[in-house]
Amino acid sequence: ALAETAELRNDLDLPAKDARHVLHPWADLQALGSDRPVVMNSAKGVRVKDSEGTTYLDAIGGMWCMTVGYGCEELADAIGDQARQMAYYTSFGDVSNEPAAQLAEKLAELSPGDLNRVHFTTGGSTAVESAVRIAHYYFAAQGKPEKRHVLSRVNAYHGGTYLTQSLSGKAADKTHFHYETEFIHHLSSPGHDPDRDPLSAEARLTELLDEMEAEIQRLGPENVACFVAEPILASGGVLTPPKGYQKATLELCRKHGILYVSDEVVTGFGRLGHFFASEARFGIVPDMIITAKGITSGYQPLGAVLVSDRIAETISKAAPSEKPVFSNGFTYSGHPVACAAALTNIKIMTRDDICGHVRDVGPYFMARLRELLDSPIVYTVRGDHLMACVECWTGEEAGPNDKNMALAARVDAYCQEAGLLVRPYENLCILSPPLVISRDDIDEIVGIMGSALTRAAADLEAGRL
Ligand code: PLP
Repeated sequence: ALAETAELRNDLDLPAKDARHVLHPWADLQALGSDRPVVMNSAKGVRVKDSEGTTYLDAIGGMWCMTVGYGCEELADAIGDQARQMAYYTSFGDVSNEPAAQLAEKLAELSPGDLNRVHFTTGGSTAVESAVRIAHYYFAAQGKPEKRHVLSRVNAYHGGTYLTQSLSGKAADKTHFHYETEFIHHLSSPGHDPDRDPLSAEARLTELLDEMEAEIQRLGPENVACFVAEPILASGGVLTPPKGYQKATLELCRKHGILYVSDEVVTGFGRLGHFFASEARFGIVPDMIITAKGITSGYQPLGAVLVSDRIAETISKAAPSEKPVFSNGFTYSGHPVACAAALTNIKIMTRDDICGHVRDVGPYFMARLRELLDSPIVYTVRGDHLMACVECWTGEEAGPNDKNMALAARVDAYCQEAGLLVRPYENLCILSPPLVISRDDIDEIVGIMGSALTRAAADLEAGRL
């Protein structure tokens, strides 16, 4: 087996093997088998290297998840040590393990309000899905099974399972798969771009709240279980709601007895400068918070639902003697190696004040990115601290039309050619660099993006698109 591994490592045609055998998440099916993927094989700090030896500055942060940087020996050691001590044991029923118990206590300490109960999952999707199930259980256990409808938003992204894809509201992702539509309802996308929105933030906020109230009334508040919301919509295009939106929607939920689930898979663990952004940035203490990705800095798969004491106590007290079981969870819930990684990640983030670092470089990142607005093919630059997006357009019609998408793809390709990875999505270039990014790295990102935009603008001008 060792010889085989060595042989695989030396294989120069890994992209061909991958193209032949892997069905990638969000694969371009028309290119299936012919598209040669970039195969990454090593990484250090904020940079990753592919199987052909090219190094890139990773402004995607893996996939929003890299916090302490690649190649962190301390994290690798924590993972190795735990794997040697006890690689796995189930956490079903009344069995636990050391790292899971310690991590649960730590998360309760870091989270706002009375969110003191942790339900571990395998990632973000399973955590969001679990939160919705907890909301269903919570009301059904109180004799209100009809209170099961769920509010989400257009452009939301909550995961890749059946339920979480149904909750997600990205038009481009609604394909030939089947989606749950009976109890899931999408409100309008709440993004407000002060540079481009014809409405003021106040007017937009009023519009969004009126719509939410009307939808709750249409469904009947007695039928609505929860509202699931990213504080800032990430994959949907880094969309920031107007000021006060998170607080006002929480108040609306409270007024109608609807649970508020804050999906902090991206906004949590430092990306906005705090372990959790719900209270620190948006002044809300939700009923549940979802975390994943940055919780382990991407070193291990892990997710969690942080649940309020009120919910935990209610479902515990309401559990009937004939059906007392909380039948939700996964083989890898509370995985000891993943929890050990999260504990060490939190230790490093706290010791090195990584959240403070993000609060320091975040505004610089945004200010430097906004210089790109000088390019004729940049429609807008938006974001917050270390989550950002550059939206491209040909100067004719804004939005994800074919021309704008081709233009953004060209910008992405030129960035990649120059050693910078930005995440292409429709006509957007999305950026979420590792949180340890330095000012010099930020200058490098903006420099490369600037050149890529100039080259793409020249292509557009010369009709080469
Ligand atoms: N929620 C949000 C806001 C996300 O961005 C993601 C993933 O990108 C998820 C949930 C799903 O997480 P996972 O891919 O770990 O299942």
